[in-house]
Amino acid sequence: MGNDPREQTKSLQMSKETGDSDAWDDISDAELLRLESEHLWTEARDRHETLSVDAHTAEGPAAAKHLEAGRTLAERLDRGPGPSSAQKRKRNLFGCCPMERYCCRYLKVTDVCGQSWCELQVLYGFKYPQVAKREEERTEVKAGASIHLARELEVHEVVQVCVVTREDHQAIKFLNLLGMISALQAGCCVRELPVFGVLEGVFMVGIIDELRYTDKGELLLNELKTRRHNSLPSKAQIKGHCLQVGLYKLLFDGMVKGSLTGDQVVQHLGLSLEQALGTGVLEHAMSLGFQVVTFGEVLDLLLLNLKYCELPCIDLLRLEYYHQGSGNVIGSQDVPFDEDQLRAKLQDYLSFWLGQREPRGVDIEDAWKCRMCSYVEYCRWRRETLHDNATIHTDKKLK
Ligand code: SF4
Repeated sequence: MGNDPREQTKSLQMSKETGDSDAWDDISDAELLRLESEHLWTEARDRHETLSVDAHTAEGPAAAKHLEAGRTLAERLDRGPGPSSAQKRKRNLFGCCPMERYCCRYLKVTDVCGQSWCELQVLYGFKYPQVAKREEERTEVKAGASIHLARELEVHEVVQVCVVTREDHQAIKFLNLLGMISALQAGCCVRELPVFGVLEGVFMVGIIDELRYTDKGELLLNELKTRRHNSLPSKAQIKGHCLQVGLYKLLFDGMVKGSLTGDQVVQHLGLSLEQALGTGVLEHAMSLGFQVVTFGEVLDLLLLNLKYCELPCIDLLRLEYYHQGSGNVIGSQDVPFDEDQLRAKLQDYLSFWLGQREPRGVDIEDAWKCRMCSYVEYCRWRRETLHDNATIHTDKKLK
């Protein structure tokens, strides 16, 4: 970038298309862990695109859209660590994992983190999008988004760029990311940094709230959480937040280590390298000092920069809780990072998306979560498990 990296510019897209979903617009504030402004299903439904997961976990043809009546996933799919050929054939005959069913080519970090609260709730978010939409309209969600935007504007100047194609849309994200790489190289703080890559065979995307260097020169990931109540969240919520920042670190570290490939990006996002960029994007790229014509050229530029940027991996993970009303800091917490544990947990969560097991509702002792769930009227777990168990008193467990 030709500009002073400390004067960060971030472009927003004005789309000429309607219904073009942006996978990276997930608000990183995840107090409820289901706060995304858009859902992947929207994009998939609009376009009926096929998913792509890595070959070792790939399921049957997209045409096999519906579960076989009366059979559970557990009956249809095998649970072993690695499927045999016979098992794969079995899946191909009957197979339709949640990623296929909801046409997801990738997952958001926040989707996976939501599983630590309640997996069924995440599933219902896809299944009942109208309810998910109502969640997004909640006052506290909007308040959290406003605080994030205000913080982002403290370090980024925002310019509007007209986009036409999906490739334009992603090219803008990549140009923004190039600017953030320069800023980090100059020792500056960046906010709302997109991260993406393949973890345990699934392409995942997320947005890091803030990256900055400490006085000791360590790279710190600071995740802002806003809270309606002036108190720290419950342990159950913090658990999901810890998972979230851990996954961000895995993705960021993979990017700056140069492990991301162009094929992964193109394959999982379903984009065309040859697509010529729209006039608005071309002009914006030129204003930043980049001579590019196609989407593939922007992607190459990004991958090259990531490979040779010599940025460090993230050293520290921190959660910072703010009170929405006063704007005061409620408290902060440093999060330990154990890669083996994190990957084991991720594999378990992804096994649901890949159709290797059925979704789980909350544990009986966590039934208090159902009291604040928007999907309670749809929830079969609540109906079948909780009502069957007359000894459960959810109020007792309310935290
Ligand atoms: S009602 Fe309870 S078990 Fe069902 S989706 Fe909501 S939180 Fe999960």
